[in-house]
Amino acid sequence: MLKLPSLIDPHVHVREPGQIHKEDWHSATQAALAGGVTTILAMPNTQPPIFDAETLKISLDAAKQKARCDYAQFLGAGPDNAHIVPSLAHKAAGLKMYLDSTFGELRLDDMTLWQPHFMNFPKEAPIVLHAESRTMAAGILFAAIYDRPVHIAHISLKEEILLIKAAKERSLKVTCEVCPHHLFLSKDDILAISQGHPGRGEVRPRLATREDVEALWQNMDVIDCFATDHAPHTLEEKDSENPPPGFPGLETLLPLLLTAVSESRLTIPDIIQKSVINPRKIFNLPEQPETWIELDENAEYAIKAANQFTRCGWTPFEGWKVKGKVKKVVLRGTTAFEDGKILVGPGYGKNIRTEGRS
Ligand SMILES: [Zn+2]
Repeated sequence: MLKLPSLIDPHVHVREPGQIHKEDWHSATQAALAGGVTTILAMPNTQPPIFDAETLKISLDAAKQKARCDYAQFLGAGPDNAHIVPSLAHKAAGLKMYLDSTFGELRLDDMTLWQPHFMNFPKEAPIVLHAESRTMAAGILFAAIYDRPVHIAHISLKEEILLIKAAKERSLKVTCEVCPHHLFLSKDDILAISQGHPGRGEVRPRLATREDVEALWQNMDVIDCFATDHAPHTLEEKDSENPPPGFPGLETLLPLLLTAVSESRLTIPDIIQKSVINPRKIFNLPEQPETWIELDENAEYAIKAANQFTRCGWTPFEGWKVKGKVKKVVLRGTTAFEDGKILVGPGYGKNIRTEGRS
């Protein structure tokens, strides 16, 4: 049995408010605990999106009632809220900017809309960019011009990891995260994931080439965080004519990483660095006292969606043979998960920005 600090997932789509048929604060935080994650940072592209005091309150009220692990909620950067979000920064995980295609209130059509956010959002509060390929390069330039840190979400390409490496070598304030599906899956796996339903292979950023995947592994030291980008959609939606992109990931994160450890492709210190120490520092998250996870590093089994707590009912890793299982999660002195069962009730989770900060 292996005892480790519990994990932080800085990129989770809880789907509440607005799409609770696929997930909500109940199911997402249970999935987190089952995955050995005791802090999640929730993304703002809900319905409505979280982009002002009123919408932030909607999400945080739901979280306060339902969450079973600790959490914080991101604000979304929109075309009209750069003067509002700075005053809410202390209550939020940070500011999420969608620099590539997004629709609705979080759409930032051109760079004149990026500027006021980079200028106004407090430098000590995190900004996370969804920015792929050349847009990512533009985002790093903004960070340099406005001399503030940025965190790049879900990088997946060789050109991205190489540019971030070069930016870090020149001491630019850029950090990045990589998702398990971009480390363990490539374009070549889409057919197997699809099972005749092409929508199941849809995710953004898209699954990349084997060369891209290899570049991520070769530059593991450039990767600051592992993040799931847990983005649940029901199978009915994935198999529809207009399939939404996204994979669930909270419950498969640690089994996949531990399997890589058993194959000597990763080390336990890598996991602690990228899923505990670095996210805590980048997102300024408090320590959770009396909190740890216990793992059976020798348990071998197949991943099955039927055993998961996420409401979406499927996983792109169905049937994968893995080695390493979360047995027990202790959160703030209380056993929150043990042998497949959630043992804390709704409301046990705390907002790490506003409750009990020391
Ligand atoms: Zn996302």
